[in-house]
Amino acid sequence: MPQGLEYEQRGKVHRVHAAREVIVSAGAFNSPQLLMLSGIGPADHLKEIGITPVHDLPGIGSNLQEHLGIWITWCRKSPGKFHREMRLDRMMLNMIRAYLFATGPGTVVPGGLHAFVKTQSGLDVPNIEFMFHTVPPQTRLWLPIVRPAYQDAYAIRPTLLHPVSRGQVRLRSADARDPVSIMYNFFSAPEDLPLLREGFRKAREVGEQPAMEPYRDAEVSPGPKVKNDAEINAFIRRTALTAHHPVGTCRMGSDADAALDPRLRVQGMEGLRVVDASAMPDLVSAHINACVLMMAEKASDIIRSDA
Ligand SMILES: Cc1cc2nc3c(=O)[nH]c(=O)nc-3n(C[C@H](O)[C@H](O)[C@H](O)COP(=O)(O)OP(=O)(O)OC[C@H]3O[C@@H](n4cnc5c(N)ncnc54)[C@H](O)[C@@H]3O)c2cc1C
Repeated sequence: MPQGLEYEQRGKVHRVHAAREVIVSAGAFNSPQLLMLSGIGPADHLKEIGITPVHDLPGIGSNLQEHLGIWITWCRKSPGKFHREMRLDRMMLNMIRAYLFATGPGTVVPGGLHAFVKTQSGLDVPNIEFMFHTVPPQTRLWLPIVRPAYQDAYAIRPTLLHPVSRGQVRLRSADARDPVSIMYNFFSAPEDLPLLREGFRKAREVGEQPAMEPYRDAEVSPGPKVKNDAEINAFIRRTALTAHHPVGTCRMGSDADAALDPRLRVQGMEGLRVVDASAMPDLVSAHINACVLMMAEKASDIIRSDA
């Protein structure tokens, strides 16, 4: 079967053909989109959208997973070092220094400290991550008289590393320019909410340690009034945020339901592979970018050896 793709540039549709194979690397939302637009995916869904199925593959677009967490934020007793640097004139100089010499506060991410936690000792891998943020979400430039300084704070962000809930990516229409529909189904698995609540309690315990006393003022979010399970659940449901780590929507595996085989080839198709975060069968106990890079390295070996 000849492989290729169709793309639009400046309003004109072009077609190109591949001598060997097509490798889709459009990410966890758009790789399943491209495949489904091409008629490869859950046949029932494709028919609903008005696309004639070429190959019924229910695994395309399913198994969506994400790292989901919440912020617990404490005011600082006195502003931290980064707060001082966020004054407009200082940050302008910091940015010039960063661009010219790659040094100074303009090159620093105010955070970057992570803890990977096992909530029970027998677990094989950590199930909760704490991301430490040394600045609050409302951090912004300030300048005396013109714009008041923000209240400085720090936060711990407990995050589910291996949620059991699974979501899906689906087409809204057969038009490639239409964004896909993304349904995470967070907390659809009953174990996810209690585990994140446990992560919340442990993170709060860490934040309240005596070692933090010199820096810590009041807990501003959610605040000390949020204590029992129902209150914490409500806070989680209201404020949970993803870590921008979507994976799994073209899951590789050796089973018949997998979208890809272990060599990243789309099951049942010839000359078609997917190489990106969508191929990961499960989330890792880490941020995922390094895994995507390693998968791409491995894929280049596989592709060369298969050729
Ligand atoms: C704000 C943010 C912060 C992040 N921070 C971190 C971090 O600190 N550490 C970490 O490990 N990970 C981080 N990640 C996650 C990491 O960036 C992604 O997991 C990783 O980039 C996924 O790689 P990918 O190749 O699967 O997809 P992508 O990097 O998204 O690449 C897909 C590419 O395909 C292109 N594309 C999509 N559709 C089409 C189409 N129809 N036609 C042509 N091109 C198309 C896109 O423009 C994009 O360039 C972050 C993500 C975000 C959004």
